[in-house]
Amino acid sequence: MLLPVDLHCHSTHSDGDLSVEEVINLAKKNGGKYLALTDHDTINGIALAKEHASKVGLKLIAGVEISVTWNEKLIHILGLNVDENNQNLQTNLNNLRAKRLTRGERISKELAKAGISNALEGALKYCQSPESLSRTHFARFLVDQGYAKPGRAFDKYLVPGKPGYVDETWASLADAISWIKSSNGIAVIAHPCRYNLKPEGLNNLVQDFKKLGGVGMEVVSGSHSKEDESIALKIAKSHGLLASMGSDFHSQNDNYSHLKLGLTTQLPVDCKTVLPLIIEEDLNALNAMEKV
Ligand code: AMP
Ligand code: MN
Ligand code: MN
Ligand code: MN
Repeated sequence: MLLPVDLHCHSTHSDGDLSVEEVINLAKKNGGKYLALTDHDTINGIALAKEHASKVGLKLIAGVEISVTWNEKLIHILGLNVDENNQNLQTNLNNLRAKRLTRGERISKELAKAGISNALEGALKYCQSPESLSRTHFARFLVDQGYAKPGRAFDKYLVPGKPGYVDETWASLADAISWIKSSNGIAVIAHPCRYNLKPEGLNNLVQDFKKLGGVGMEVVSGSHSKEDESIALKIAKSHGLLASMGSDFHSQNDNYSHLKLGLTTQLPVDCKTVLPLIIEEDLNALNAMEKV
């Protein structure tokens, strides 16, 4: 059973390959009703997204996916329902994004040592602006140049221990949550089962997150397997976190997400979700009407 709600997706403002308008049109075409645009470390696409969404009759929720370094690990924290005009949030995200180009230069140097030249120039061709440069853009370059098979560039070059991986210190968990809260948003741990954390590590993350004022955790995610989903559901329930749901859509040409943009799988009725904090509509009516 599907819900026309998707609280996590990307556009060309970060590492998605569709423009904001294209993302909204596709979500609408797929039957979506509520969509949060959550580009990495930026809210620059939100104003246009809101304008276009109102034209096509889709409810747009302002969001962001913040890169966080927690215990030396890269963790993603979603801010949902943030105020896109909040200066504090904007300034801090701009500072964070400035790290992307310098990290890209270091990635490129490492790839050169592995015999791959001009990776920086190559990756930059795939992204809208240098401050949105992502490993995803390097992956697209590596695949198109034949250095990796489709879907294999990360495992071969871009994850810890591989030739093109470099460390970066992103926002602290405390900072990310405080920026989100100060802009009236709610903080949600993105795809908790994607961090290779053991149960104890995940438990520690959740405890730190809650102490700092975080309220939600993605249970349904396009990058979660069914098993991940039940693990996340259990953790959310036992720690009193509200469940969130998002496709994590990036592109129609990859299989990173198994969910269609705009639609997510419905959670059990007894599961408390973030929806009442985000959506004004009567949720029972939404569920009953909009099963696709
Ligand atoms: P970055 O923010 O530049 O470090 O890139 C992180 C992004 O890379 C994530 O948001 C995903 O879109 C993508 N990503 C990370 N791991 C993988 C993977 N194993 N396969 C495909 N894409 C991945
Ligand atoms: Mn991404
Ligand atoms: Mn993520
Ligand atoms: Mn994402």
